[in-house]
Amino acid sequence: MALIVQKYGGTSVGDADRIRRVAERLIATKKAGHDVVAVISAMAGVTDGLIKLAREMSAQPSERELDLLLATGEQSASALTAMAVNALGGKAVSLSGAAAGIVTDGVHTKAKISHISPRQIQELLAEDFIVIVAGFQGQSPQGAITTLGRGGSDLTAIALAAALKADDCQIFTDVDGVHTCDPRVVPESSKIDEIAYDELLEMAGAGSKVMQSRAVEFAKKFGVGFEVRHSQKELPGTRATEVTPGMEEVVVRGVSLDRNQAKVTICGVPDRPGCAGQIFSALSGVNLSVDMIVQNASSTGTTDLSFTLHKDDFALAEKILGPLVSEIGASGMMATTGVAKLSVVGIGMRSHAGVAARLFASLGEAGVNIQLISTSEIKIAVVIEEGELERAAQATHAAFGLARPRSQEDGPR
Ligand code: ASP
Ligand code: MG
Repeated sequence: MALIVQKYGGTSVGDADRIRRVAERLIATKKAGHDVVAVISAMAGVTDGLIKLAREMSAQPSERELDLLLATGEQSASALTAMAVNALGGKAVSLSGAAAGIVTDGVHTKAKISHISPRQIQELLAEDFIVIVAGFQGQSPQGAITTLGRGGSDLTAIALAAALKADDCQIFTDVDGVHTCDPRVVPESSKIDEIAYDELLEMAGAGSKVMQSRAVEFAKKFGVGFEVRHSQKELPGTRATEVTPGMEEVVVRGVSLDRNQAKVTICGVPDRPGCAGQIFSALSGVNLSVDMIVQNASSTGTTDLSFTLHKDDFALAEKILGPLVSEIGASGMMATTGVAKLSVVGIGMRSHAGVAARLFASLGEAGVNIQLISTSEIKIAVVIEEGELERAAQATHAAFGLARPRSQEDGPR
């Protein structure tokens, strides 16, 4: 008998029928002889709807009240799931995050879990209940309801799996796992069977959003193995683990795409100490985080400095930097939102040469111009024109041999 934590995302509990299907799955897991803890997200669209309502009440709602409000989304979905299990002849009880023993700091809307006292969950499991926990929330030591940041139910599931020393953690979602590339852009992409935590983190940062990054970081820190899989299918998904032997043989695990990018170039920045500091202090002063930063070596006493940031932050960045450009003596600023980022990710890069060469050559052959390049130990990212992203993705995916062999089931192309 194993203890299994299963997390169901918003679309998996998106309506009454889907909640019933989740309930059936929970009962089946229990009938297979396992102890089951289910972490439930708010029904699809509910969190966004509540945020919208809050904004109608106040332009800047109190974060304390926002947490109290948003936590109800997960609570209702959990209670409904428990009702469905019970109606189908199973035995379930639902708990709020607080009742489940999840204690956080007091930072409303992005609280960190400080510890979990799962006593009540364990007692209920011992009484043979399927225990359903409202995701995304906890309680501060002062007793205030807190939430864990958008997508936080993933973190609830991973943290509970760690605290309960669960045998497995399954993250059920509306895709069948993590793919080598976005299947809408590259139809030949395939599901990845096994991925290292670090690869998943880089791919999330590069725009492949299957899991909340904080949840993956937590899993890495505490060695919680988990599987991302489809909630409506009986198929194995993608298993995330520490690096296993053989994983490094694959040079590139996947290609991530991110269209939410904007690029700013400050031209003719004087080549003297303090200029970069002034530019990025101004941005961090209004809480803007930047992604890639590239500065050229100067041979003429001035240099160009480029960086990327999220499209949503573009207008504010332009406004903040406008006056600063002349203040520091730069010659001008060029800013555009028509860019996208493509990243190749793989821990195998650490031990294989020629990855950059292969990426750049394939982009060159596809006629795609590279605007910026940045690298980490296990990732190479390029910024390109947004309109060229599809072509670039298909060329890169093919160049690294990621395409799945086509089977009969795929039908004609
Ligand atoms: N309902 C929350 C959100 O939409 C948390 C979650 O779904 O994980 O961000
Ligand atoms: Mg989610």
